[in-house]
Amino acid sequence: MNKLEVLNSYWGYDAFLPFQEKAIDSILDDHDTLTVLPTGGGKSICFQLPALLKEGMAVIISPLISLMKDQVDSLHDLGISARYLNSSLEFGEQKKIVAEVRASRVKLLYLAPERLALEQTKSLLQSVSLSYFVVDEAHCISHWGHNFREDYRNLQVIKEAFKNIAVHAFTATATPEVRADIVKQLKLVEPHLYLGAIDRPNLAYRVKTRESNYLTHIAEILNTYKDEAGIIYCIRRKDVDELSQRLTDLGYKNLPYHAGLNDEIRTRNQNAFSQEKINIMVATVAFGMGIDRSNIRYIIHLGMPKSIEHYQQETGRAGRDGLNSACYLFYQGGDYRTWEYLVREAVDRETLLKKLKEMYNYCSYPECRHKYLSNYFGQELPTDNCGACDYCLNELEMIKNPAEVSRKIISAVREVNERFGADHIVNILTANENENVTRWRHNKITSFGIMRSEKKTTIRYAIEQLVGQGYLARELEHYTLSVTAKGSALQRGEWIPKLASPIMIRKIARKEKKEAYRGAETSNNYDQAVFEKLRNKRRELAERKKTPAYIIFSDKSLWDMAHKKPVTLAAFQHVYGVGEQKLEQYGEEFVSLIKQVTSG
Ligand code: ADP
Ligand code: ZN
Repeated sequence: MNKLEVLNSYWGYDAFLPFQEKAIDSILDDHDTLTVLPTGGGKSICFQLPALLKEGMAVIISPLISLMKDQVDSLHDLGISARYLNSSLEFGEQKKIVAEVRASRVKLLYLAPERLALEQTKSLLQSVSLSYFVVDEAHCISHWGHNFREDYRNLQVIKEAFKNIAVHAFTATATPEVRADIVKQLKLVEPHLYLGAIDRPNLAYRVKTRESNYLTHIAEILNTYKDEAGIIYCIRRKDVDELSQRLTDLGYKNLPYHAGLNDEIRTRNQNAFSQEKINIMVATVAFGMGIDRSNIRYIIHLGMPKSIEHYQQETGRAGRDGLNSACYLFYQGGDYRTWEYLVREAVDRETLLKKLKEMYNYCSYPECRHKYLSNYFGQELPTDNCGACDYCLNELEMIKNPAEVSRKIISAVREVNERFGADHIVNILTANENENVTRWRHNKITSFGIMRSEKKTTIRYAIEQLVGQGYLARELEHYTLSVTAKGSALQRGEWIPKLASPIMIRKIARKEKKEAYRGAETSNNYDQAVFEKLRNKRRELAERKKTPAYIIFSDKSLWDMAHKKPVTLAAFQHVYGVGEQKLEQYGEEFVSLIKQVTSG
């Protein structure tokens, strides 16, 4: 068989996605590779498929037990012999798998990185024929990345202990620094680099301030996506517990997930989400890696994530099936301070703070979100108006004279000798003669009342944005504001827009447009009633087999079924995502269900 035939007969797909073929060819040629594809870009097939065409066994290094289990379960469901070795297995099971490896009965072996450091693992792998190594989630190897894992440092041993075997690295998010680090750490030899577009055109991004009525906003979003799946991320465990409870009180069925819950509850909640018994997850970042449910329609961040990489990864869980999905980020300046506090003792504090600043800048700087994210990862967005973010949709109300407003604020901060916080500055500018203002005689200074016609909230929010955009700095302990070099340049009128981003300040947004997507597939072309029946069947099978529902069929496959309504096995075979094994395993059951519902 050639690679296209393999794709078709195992996975039931007709063509490769962008870069898949190149990455596969590079693996077939034994040329070291670094492939960066966004979530949903189809990385797994890139490294799984060549294993079926090459002699020997492929070794996949993967950072998470749940991720390995998912992939191995999916491969089994396609009729491909795959196993994993990690600490979740009992001794007897491990022995069995080792024996299968020795007998060359395994095509893909998933390993935890720390396993590779063990002599016995190395000698096992040296005693059998290997096709290639894959390092999945390769950004974990880099200190510059957002998910550094000590165990990934071991992976240098691959090139040392297995001299003539190619190594292929895969990741969804990697800045140029991280890419260079991956190549260096893994000692890749003149690797082919495949860089997919980082942009996710089917996601609509919106950034909003978190006001006291945030629950109303969230409820609106949940109502829009009734019966569809979504994740709400909070910064702290207690926020998760609180929000989960409040949503339950309001009648929104949901489950919480964070590292403070015991293993059993966490597993149960995760399974309920994977098996589609529950649609709303309220979670900390602990929830996510290895969640491959492809029909997640919205991601809400009820608090700013700690880096753009995290944001990209977390929002990336929406719309893996290519369909329109929404990403909402509700933030406050206080989130920055919360994170600053949480990372205060980390060894790589400086790197984390830099990333935090960039994240805060994303929130504070009103420009195209798709553009910002692409640029962050070193790519250009090939359009000036993405049509799928709050900025491009014109949902943000901008201040008309941002430079002038900013100069007024900056001069007030200066005039009080950079010794006061934002609220005090607002009071001065709006001529609010409260006790503090009169006590310090700040009602006598030049800045007093120079913005009395502006709304307090507008000025308060402008200050927040000036901090986020780096014109003002805020001291951690007392929250006092000071003027940065960039701010001084702006005040002197020396800010050169050509060399840097022009200043832009927004007001607190109100309006929101409904149709907000670009380049996404539509899914209207199927019979909704049939789809619901198929979905129930899938849920039933998932429960019976104790696997996540998406392992059985993706939503896209179900839509295609609900569209084509095949009533014979021959016709069923042409459904998207139906390969030989799926046909044999599920064909009859689905065909007879379709017959039944279509005959009335
Ligand atoms: P990633 O790991 O890059 O996030 P996945 O490997 O999970 O992406 O693939 C995303 C989805 O795309 C999966 O449902 C997968 O089966 C599907 N897919 C992969 N390759 C193809 C293809 N060539 N044609 C159609 N669908 C594909
Ligand atoms: Zn945009």
